[in-house]
Amino acid sequence: MLLSKGSVSLLSFLAPQHKPKCLIHITISPFCLLNGSNISSSSLKPRRFAVLGAGFAGMSVAWHLLQQSARELSLCIDIYDELGIGGGASGVAGGLLHPYSPKAKLLWKGAQCWEEAMVMLSIAEAAKDEGSFAQDLKDLVSQHIFDGPIVWKRGIIKPITAMKSIDIMKKALFLACNKLVKDLSAVGYSGKQVNFYKQTVHSLQEISGEYSAVVICLGARSESLPELKGVLPLRMCRGVVAHLDLPGNMSGGEYKDSDPSILADAWLAVRGPRSLAMGSTWQWGSRNYSRTLSSDEESSAMHELLSKASILYPDIRNWSCESASAGLRAMPPLTTLGSLPLLGSVDNLVGHNSGGGGRYWFMGGLGARGLLYHGWLGKLMAQAVLSCSAAEIPFELTTWKNRM
Ligand SMILES: Cc1cc2nc3c(=O)[nH]c(=O)nc-3n(C[C@H](O)[C@H](O)[C@H](O)COP(=O)(O)OP(=O)(O)OC[C@H]3O[C@@H](n4cnc5c(N)ncnc54)[C@H](O)[C@@H]3O)c2cc1C
Repeated sequence: MLLSKGSVSLLSFLAPQHKPKCLIHITISPFCLLNGSNISSSSLKPRRFAVLGAGFAGMSVAWHLLQQSARELSLCIDIYDELGIGGGASGVAGGLLHPYSPKAKLLWKGAQCWEEAMVMLSIAEAAKDEGSFAQDLKDLVSQHIFDGPIVWKRGIIKPITAMKSIDIMKKALFLACNKLVKDLSAVGYSGKQVNFYKQTVHSLQEISGEYSAVVICLGARSESLPELKGVLPLRMCRGVVAHLDLPGNMSGGEYKDSDPSILADAWLAVRGPRSLAMGSTWQWGSRNYSRTLSSDEESSAMHELLSKASILYPDIRNWSCESASAGLRAMPPLTTLGSLPLLGSVDNLVGHNSGGGGRYWFMGGLGARGLLYHGWLGKLMAQAVLSCSAAEIPFELTTWKNRM
């Protein structure tokens, strides 16, 4: 049976020869707004949500809103980004993905975040690469999960098996959203819609009229909204990442599949036998979110990164820099559990009286670990928005508001 009751498969991802057996089962309960809740079909009034920002955070929220909502629900998601999908820090992320601190200590909820990040990678890969979408989600995900520890010893981590998945991540989640909408429509649920607008949002007031909820995922630019100016406990930090290739005339020195990525003062994220990303600098207090670097900034970043990376991997000096780009991280405050991202309703902070339910939501402060955090946090955020309640969000992620 191709479709089971209460589940939807992303059939359009599949090459025709694979269709009978390749199913991504996405369970969506038929009579609820949110998967698993007890809301009757009569309360399924059409919803329209705005997601501001199309980085890892915004795309994960959009995906989970679609994926977790009841199939009967008429749901329109409008995604806004002034620079395009992956136009901010997500577009420059080096691709280092692991659930550990620099001291190789498992991060708070690291295992959960890792699991959800693997799911997102699998979805992104499947959305982009129809041909290889030949197994169900569980199998697809299991390909990404390592046997044994990810950390070999302090500073030396196993590389992600398919680094290309990190690259495709940047755009593929939007593709995945569209495919899910199409698949639902193909099986009779045509009420879902997802739109992307390349547009600057100047204020919440400007857009909020039309929406039942607005999810703010503007990364380091969140405070560009006047309603959030000065109210978020975020610090900005610019970073440079360099992409290095091993020149064709250099024999030897290639990275093998089994060679490690390196997490140290400067990290090396392996992308292929002759390609890696090296990062990153930390320029605290910068407000410069331009991706491009002046020649001075580039040469000083290269000097700093090469000096640090060559301590662990001296051969790095034989590699040549193909390009360098920069981005602005939104760093959350340090707590006793580490630097935790910020999540939750911001109705109070923006002066909106929602009468209990949330209308304005915030997901940010993903710091230097957007790849790790976006899956789990996006899921939590979608659940909160669909149920109009932050009850399921762990308090550790929302207590920042009490300190404001
Ligand atoms: C150099 C560097 C290397 C990194 N490497 C890694 C790594 O290897 N692994 C990892 O896990 N993390 C890494 N990170 C961190 C990671 O990139 C971030 O945690 C993540 O991208 C944050 O995602 P986001 O969606 O919150 O923000 P962003 O990706 O910045 O998305 C915010 C979006 O909002 C848009 N926007 C902003 N203001 C407006 C507005 N007013 N109207 C409309 N749109 C607007 C922006 O254009 C942007 O696309 C790195 C960061 C940097 C800077």
